[in-house]
Amino acid sequence: MNRVSESLQPILEEVIRRNPAEAEFHQAVQEVLESLGPVVTRHPEYTDGEVIRRLCEPERQIIFRVPWTDDAGRVQLNRGFRVQFSSALGPFKGGLRFHPSVYLGIVKFLGFEQIFKNALTGLPIGGAKGGSDFDPKGRSDAEVMRFCQSFMTEMYRHIGEHTDVPAGDAGVGRREIGYLFGQYKRITDRYESGVLTGKGLTWGGSQVRTEATGYGTVFFVDEMLRHSGDSFEGKRVLVSGSGNVAIYAIEKVQELGGRVIACSDSDGFIVDEAGIDLDLIKEIKQERRGRISEYTDQRPGARFVAGEGIWDIPCDIALPCATQNELRGADATALLRGGCRIVAEGANMPTTPDAIRLLVDGGVRFAPGKAVNAGGVATSALEMQQNASRDSWAFDYTEERLAEIMRTLHDRCLETADEYGAPGDYVAGANIAGFTRVADAMLALGLV
Ligand code: NDP
Repeated sequence: MNRVSESLQPILEEVIRRNPAEAEFHQAVQEVLESLGPVVTRHPEYTDGEVIRRLCEPERQIIFRVPWTDDAGRVQLNRGFRVQFSSALGPFKGGLRFHPSVYLGIVKFLGFEQIFKNALTGLPIGGAKGGSDFDPKGRSDAEVMRFCQSFMTEMYRHIGEHTDVPAGDAGVGRREIGYLFGQYKRITDRYESGVLTGKGLTWGGSQVRTEATGYGTVFFVDEMLRHSGDSFEGKRVLVSGSGNVAIYAIEKVQELGGRVIACSDSDGFIVDEAGIDLDLIKEIKQERRGRISEYTDQRPGARFVAGEGIWDIPCDIALPCATQNELRGADATALLRGGCRIVAEGANMPTTPDAIRLLVDGGVRFAPGKAVNAGGVATSALEMQQNASRDSWAFDYTEERLAEIMRTLHDRCLETADEYGAPGDYVAGANIAGFTRVADAMLALGLV
């Protein structure tokens, strides 16, 4: 069902017509437009200046060939993308995703979301996203390095500390950022730390960047709980995925007294009623790059279930932290049946629109990824600050900055939702607060 107001409907139709077969991008645009009806009624200047139409068109899209050789000496070929969506608030900023599902529609949905997410942080960063259909899974370090070097050999001419600052996303962690940074440095002959974030601590990285998206997600939910006089203490929590976001979300939930009883990868999920053993997950997924099913080898009390179904487990809080559209209508019904009260998106757009409606109608408090998972990019902006001043901050100080950003961001969503007549609606609050900040900057900068 489409809840876009009549005045904005032509914009959605134009986006669909001009970007055919990009379903995820259409979905992301629709979700934002559904919130903006009351905004354009109150602010005709946004319509007069065609701000929304302009925002739906990326400033620049780069698609390039990435040839490389595998360990057997065979030539391999992938496609690289960088979509520079909006630089109204600062240099383009957003991660790179390496996954076989990557195509232009995924990169555009992620880049579009990134504009509002970055605006919401209150920091001076524009929105972008990039990546490749390269699959790092099962590849040797040497293969990953050759791929990254080839990728950067094209991308270096489009980025820079004042132009566009990529970071990691799914499939791109510190190893990949290292190879990308090394090649950038070699080609440009510049030690330009601010060109990439997510770097290693000994070569320009920031404390807490690795943990930031997962920790930030939990700080956001902690704030939701506090607003209703509650806390994580004793809560049953489901976390999908077992990658960067999921692992550090689990860590922080456990620190705050919650019990994470299940997590997953693309093969299936594990259930451990005693609480997930996070050290074991880290060993399997980070050190060995193994599969989640291996968990039960060392935890006989736990069980592995192949395929989907993690949301069928009764819980108080669900944190989808794996991938887009992983939580669908039937999953929402299962969560309601299991007593879930809060769903907060650690991943980008993991909940389908029909699932969101079911959850909200069923009384669940729902918070969208562009607010909940903004702690990753916010800490990337803190990394840029440290790089610019050639400084490096302590872990505790950086974590407190992140926590403060998430508290402010949470309140900004609620205050904006109130202001526009949708009290308690985190989706409306996040979309409107992100949009108005970037829209005002666009009007101030003229038609560029
Ligand atoms: P990773 O690549 O580190 O981890 C992704 C995890 O999700 C892996 O465990 C993967 O399993 C699992 N997964 C993928 N598809 C499915 C599926 N269909 N069902 C169950 N599990 C699945 O990625 P990140 O943790 O970095 O990113 C996860 C999400 O968070 C993405 O949406 C990303 O855009 C978003 N995000 C990430 C940020 C960051 O800082 N990293 C910042 C903001 C958002 P497998 O090992 O089998 O592939």
